[in-house]
Amino acid sequence: MNDAKCHMSRDLLASYLDNELPGPARAEMALHLTQCTECQVERDAMEALRQRLAAAGPHPLTAGLEARINAALDAESPLQPNPERSRPWSSLGPMTWPRLAALAASHAAVALLTAGLLYGMLSGTDERDRALHEIVNAHARAALTNQMVQVASSDTHTVKPWLAARLPYSPNVHDYKPQGFPLLGGRIDFLLDEPVASLVYGRREHLITVFVVPLDRASTLAVPAANWRGYHVIGWRDASFSYLATTDLNLSELKDFVVLAGGS
Ligand SMILES: [Zn+2]
Repeated sequence: MNDAKCHMSRDLLASYLDNELPGPARAEMALHLTQCTECQVERDAMEALRQRLAAAGPHPLTAGLEARINAALDAESPLQPNPERSRPWSSLGPMTWPRLAALAASHAAVALLTAGLLYGMLSGTDERDRALHEIVNAHARAALTNQMVQVASSDTHTVKPWLAARLPYSPNVHDYKPQGFPLLGGRIDFLLDEPVASLVYGRREHLITVFVVPLDRASTLAVPAANWRGYHVIGWRDASFSYLATTDLNLSELKDFVVLAGGS
């Protein structure tokens, strides 16, 4: 069977993976999967896709993306419309996982997937990644160029007015020296083209930047807790601001700091 063209449909395989096949068909597919390399590869691809979708959460298919997929499909087979692949997504229903599996079966869709377009648009990952990279890069750039602080002071009454004079808002500034995270000062960074207050704290030889972002801009900079290029990022918020801490300090001590600063 490894050499013969596989007779199992991908819909059947998708149903099997979703535990939707009745007993006998399920047993047949399970047996088939032990023998058919083609289906094993397909199964692995579907599982990988499903995991990414599960991580991405629900998201509507945008009209722009639908148009691109349809255009790509039209280019793929202009003369021989394949009924099984005739735009299963064209009725803009919810983007379910079997639907995406069907989508992934198309060469055109695979090309789009490879480009990262579909995944990015499904999850907002592009935006989140961009925010994450900006946050980490701002910290790393300042550290590498020895410009961590533009106002070097452990006095909150010095740092806060310095920042407020240069920003359209006045961030909360606290010192945590007694708890082992001394305030070293502050600086102005640009995140997604807007200036933000950056507070700098020390922990042994490590530095922590805390970006203080007004809540009306918080959504554009919302990133889940992450690690990128060896830097941890954790965010939290209070009634006035969103906070994003990044550092090369170990995660455990960063979490201690975040709890101290009002996160959880
Ligand atoms: Zn097969």
